[in-house]
Formats: sequence, C-alpha cells, structure tokens
Amino acid sequence: MNFENSLEFAKALDAQDPLKAHRESFLIPTFGKKNTVYFTGNSLGLQPKNAQKYILEELQDWANLGVEGHFEARRPWYSYHEILTEKTARIVGALPLEVCTTHSLTTNLHLLMSSFYRPQGKRTKILCEAKAFPSDQYALESQIRWHGLPASDLVMVGPREGEHLIHEEDIYAKIDALGDELALVLWGGVNYYTGQYFDLQQITQKGHAVGAVVGFDLAHAAGNVNLQLHDWGPDFAAWCGYKYLNSSPGGVSGYFVHERHAFRKDLPRLAGWWGHNKESRFKMEPGFDPLPGAEGWQLSNAPVLGMAAHLASLEIFDAAGMEAIGRKRDLLTAYLWFVIDEVSKRISENGVLEIITPENPEKRGAQLSMLLATHGIECFNRLSASGVIADWREPNVIRVAPAPLYNRFEDVYWFGQHLFKALQ
Ligand SMILES: *Cc1c(COP(=O)(O)O)cnc(C)c1O
Repeated sequence: MNFENSLEFAKALDAQDPLKAHRESFLIPTFGKKNTVYFTGNSLGLQPKNAQKYILEELQDWANLGVEGHFEARRPWYSYHEILTEKTARIVGALPLEVCTTHSLTTNLHLLMSSFYRPQGKRTKILCEAKAFPSDQYALESQIRWHGLPASDLVMVGPREGEHLIHEEDIYAKIDALGDELALVLWGGVNYYTGQYFDLQQITQKGHAVGAVVGFDLAHAAGNVNLQLHDWGPDFAAWCGYKYLNSSPGGVSGYFVHERHAFRKDLPRLAGWWGHNKESRFKMEPGFDPLPGAEGWQLSNAPVLGMAAHLASLEIFDAAGMEAIGRKRDLLTAYLWFVIDEVSKRISENGVLEIITPENPEKRGAQLSMLLATHGIECFNRLSASGVIADWREPNVIRVAPAPLYNRFEDVYWFGQHLFKALQ
C-alpha cells in the first residue's frame, strides 16, 4: 500500500478498519489535551468499559452473599479462573488444558522453574537474552543461586558489537555450543527494548535437540503477536495480563504448560491447595494430588476482582479474534513506521532517528523503538507535554506501540504531528 502522511488518508484507513468499533469498548485517557495519543499498551493496557461493571458485580455478590459467593455468586468464585481459560488459550494458540490465569508473571516464572529448571550433573546452565527485562534477570540469577550453582551458569546471547538486534543464528549456535550443559532455554518472545520478535518454534526445536527444557517469557508477545504455543511445543511459558491483555495494573497473568507434561504427577513443584485435585480439595487431607495441566501449578484461590477486570478484556479479544488483530497490527505498525520515517526525513535529509525494531513485520509485533541520535530525553519530554503517552528507555530510545484493539490510524497521524514539533 502507498501510504500518505495526511489526516484524510489516516481517516480513510480507519473507515475501512474492521476492528474500529472495539475502541468504543475502552476508556481512553486524554489528560485534558487535544489529540492525545496513547501508545503504551505494551506497558499498561487501557481499561475496558466492562471492567468496572464486572468488578462491581463481584462486590455486590460479596456484599449479599459473603462466603456463600464461592458457590452462589453469579460467577462462582471457587471456579472463577476457569471462565478465563478458553479465551486465553485462543490468544496464545494452546489447548485449554495447557493454560491457566492467576498470580503475576514473575511468580509464575518461579513456580514453573520449580518444575522445569532441574539442574543435574553437568546439565546446569540457563540461556537467556542479554539485557533481559530486569525482573527476569533477577528471577534467573536467583534460581541459579537457589540451586547452589555459580553465577556463570547464566549464559546470555546479545546483539553483536555495534548492533541492536540479536542474530537468531547466534542463539542457535550458543545452544549447540552449550549442548549437554544446557538445562533450560528461557527466552523472551518479543524483546521489551527493541521489539524484536524471535522464531519461537526454531528456538524450541534447537533447545530440545540438545536435551534442554524450553520456556518463554511472553510478556510483550501475548495479545500482540500470533502465537501457536501448542504446535511449537515449548515446555512452558508465562506472560503478564496487564500489557497488551489489559487485565489492570498488576493484574492476573497467564501461563502455559505443554500437554506432554499435563499428567506428570512426578514433576516436582512448589504446590498450594488450588493446584490440588478439585474432587478432594475440600477434604483438606495431606498428600498433594496435582490437577492435570496448567491448573496444577496454581497456589491460591482465585483473586476474583482482578479476574473480573481481565474477563472484560478477554471478551473483547474473543470478539475481535487474534487473526484480525494481527492483520490490523501489521498495517497500523507499517503506517507508524512510514509516518515516523517521513517526519524524521523532513527534519533532516538523512533522518534524525533510527527505528531499531526489525522492519520485517514477521520479526516484530506492534512496538517500534526509535533511537534518537541526540536530545532524546528533550524530544520525549516535549512529546509528553503535547499529549503523547510513550515510553522512555535509557540511553536514547523512545518506545511506541499502537494497540490494534483501541488505537486508530488517526492516532498515528497525530503522533507524527507531535513528533515533528518535538524534533524541531
Ligand atoms: C513487564 C515484564 C515483567 C513484569 O513482571 P511482573 O511480575 O508482572 O511485575 C517481567 N518480565 C518481562 C519480560 C516484562 O516485560
């Protein structure tokens, strides 16, 4: 498509957008400004209008029913998480048996590693991205220490000298080189800093080929890119609910355990009563009997208010469907790329910034990361002052991510207008 950086063109794209009606299902902050642009759905997704309604319904049921709400509420609390399961499974391309939603991302990563990072003999190492999101970095370091192993057991692959993106062949080469010393590959689906989206199927195959376990952190991938977790076959994955999935600040988060592990009662794990057999849970007897599938990693009973917010968002995902979300994502992000590039070259012939995210739409999701040659923070502050909600990362990167469910092509146009002014 030949794009144009004009309001008419952006509006014409919006008019043809099959998902345009879903914007009406969200509360969009304006900060009292005109033409505000919210491009941080990759950091905190916006509030679905039904979130308040669903949370209020739970508060009413709690008021009217007290403890009886566990079984008598309109959506009984003892099984509340089950309402989220099929919708979540569709988003990440999994069987319902393979997913569950509860706790937070870092909690779930630790719980999954309690089963899937089992260093033994010389097979002790974990492979991850260099400069992984700090929480992941701490989680992995602490897992290694927890097992009494040296810090050097955490092995990283980063970009080559002077580059921003990771060559996928460097990941595969490192997996091969580590061979039978590699216990776990724990890779991010979409890198939070560059927006690079990795070939998760290939990483799974390469990791399994040397006998390692493969897990993914999909914080920036779930609800953003089109995942097929069951078919790709990683052992486990976890993501947060509050980024592209709009589950509310710190909201409940999902995780995946592949079907091949679903009935493995022998897997060691850190257990709690909600992972125990539903039939005998309330007998309160000793002897943990894990539920089949991902549910067997739940510790505690469902945090219902957070889940009510998440339900509101998952219903919108279901109505839109990941296929259509993916098509809009690619068009919206390609248009954003075009507009940023046009503005940058209008300021100076050779451009004043570089988009470090891959240009190939198969290698990225909704996010573009702009590296500014100079005055990055000044530009970012001016954008903020004019009503652009974006994200600043040291040393010189501004991240922007249009979310297909609520961002418009018109937002991209206004972003370009604000950017032009901010760069001058
Ligand atoms: C956002 C994010 C987190 C946050 O972890 P929480 O446990 O939800 O606070 C962790 N890892 C990655 C890769 C993230 O992008």
